[in-house]
Amino acid sequence: MAGAGGGADGRRARVALFPLPFQGHISPMLQLAGALRARGLAVTVLHTAFNAPDPARHPGLAFVAVPDAIPEAAAAATNGIAKILALNAAMEASGRVRAALASLMAAAEGEGEPWLACLVIDSTLTAAQKAAAGLGLPTLVLHTGSAACFRLFRSYDMLHHKGYLPSTESNLHMPIKELPPLQVRDLFDPSKLPNKEIGQKILNLATETTTNSSGAILSTFEALEPHELGMIRDELAPKGVPPFAVGPLHKLATAASRGAETSLLDQDRSCVAWLDARAPGSVLYVSFGSVARVTQDEFVEVAWGLAGSGRPFLWVVRRGLVLGVEGKQELPDGFGAAVEGRGKVVEWAPQQEVLAHPAVGGFWTHSGWNSTVESVYEGVPMLSRPLFGDQLATGRYVADTWRLGVLLEGVLERGEIEKAIRKLMEEDEGAAMRERAKGLKEKVRTCLESSGSSQQAVDKLVDHILSL
Ligand code: UDP
Repeated sequence: MAGAGGGADGRRARVALFPLPFQGHISPMLQLAGALRARGLAVTVLHTAFNAPDPARHPGLAFVAVPDAIPEAAAAATNGIAKILALNAAMEASGRVRAALASLMAAAEGEGEPWLACLVIDSTLTAAQKAAAGLGLPTLVLHTGSAACFRLFRSYDMLHHKGYLPSTESNLHMPIKELPPLQVRDLFDPSKLPNKEIGQKILNLATETTTNSSGAILSTFEALEPHELGMIRDELAPKGVPPFAVGPLHKLATAASRGAETSLLDQDRSCVAWLDARAPGSVLYVSFGSVARVTQDEFVEVAWGLAGSGRPFLWVVRRGLVLGVEGKQELPDGFGAAVEGRGKVVEWAPQQEVLAHPAVGGFWTHSGWNSTVESVYEGVPMLSRPLFGDQLATGRYVADTWRLGVLLEGVLERGEIEKAIRKLMEEDEGAAMRERAKGLKEKVRTCLESSGSSQQAVDKLVDHILSL
């Protein structure tokens, strides 16, 4: 490795990074930024005003706001897909990303300044990649999902060609033999969206940016997805795009990190004291991440399912979780009294700290990739309730490949929820998942040791950046 983030001439290198402005994408990008900085590189994070990170929480990183990169109308769009497309369109039209990069490149000409080696973009930010290409600046692409989803999103031509898609009522349970253990019902099916073309466009973004990049950075690790990573290496090698599996990103730079610095919302730490008073392994932690929404009916079933399960639980009911309700979410009448002393509800939790807490014995998750990896890292088995996009495939992997969780499918209904919670928290099947989760927890830690696969991948990544 070239020493301390310097190029062949000994001059220090700078890397610019541009995350997609959503929690599940900002966190891994900032974590990667921290890891690159720890290897001696200078790091600048470009960001939108919408969901801007707080520079005060990242003293070692430089931040540059790219004005108007996401117009108000796009920020207000409820649908994440519409936001991503609007953001790319606005970036291309305004030329502001190009201007921000040009000014970073000009600053790098100054005496003693680091040279700008590359731009690392979220895999959806095609417009930022085009801006960099126009200035002759290479890009690397950060994929914030699993290696399995990386492969899945590149397989849509095959899925259509072989007739898996568009899905029909009769083929939903059909296994996809080219992508085991996935079934047709685990696919994000663009034809089910009101606007099919938009769905297909969004799927193509990551493939397009990867093809046009100088490298793919994956938020996963060898111990979890060895087969998928091997296939990705084979697929990308002829294209000259090296992959780097550097996860779990939230522990890459420092195992002591508790995640508060990358959270966009204030985390309510009162739940930690509440957990302190609970028996080891007794609590079910429940959170559906930062963007997923449920209907009012589903919300009520979740509440009464938790109440009926008889288990202690910590439930994140974030603002905006329930469709049609923008402010603070009211809990169903009588719910507070029914779970008195057994349940705690917060608007946003210190999730990594919660999952690391000895009182937590299970995680009911929407199978967002960051949540899944955080749970795997702490050896906590899951109750998976994927809601859309790549969550569906991740839920299937959790249940069928890693066998670390119970998959909750079909209509959400309180009786089914109670049964699933009992299976995970009380029955032999759940105990076996807990044992497997403990085993994998050990393996994850070896990936993060100094000679482990993820640290070696970061070394290679830094060497690669310096060679660009
Ligand atoms: N998170 C948190 N507090 C909460 C719920 C979630 O800090 O109460 C964090 C969690 O640790 C994870 C991220 O929000 O890093 C959610 O990312 P994920 O990919 O799981 O789901 P998304 O929000 O993108 O759907």
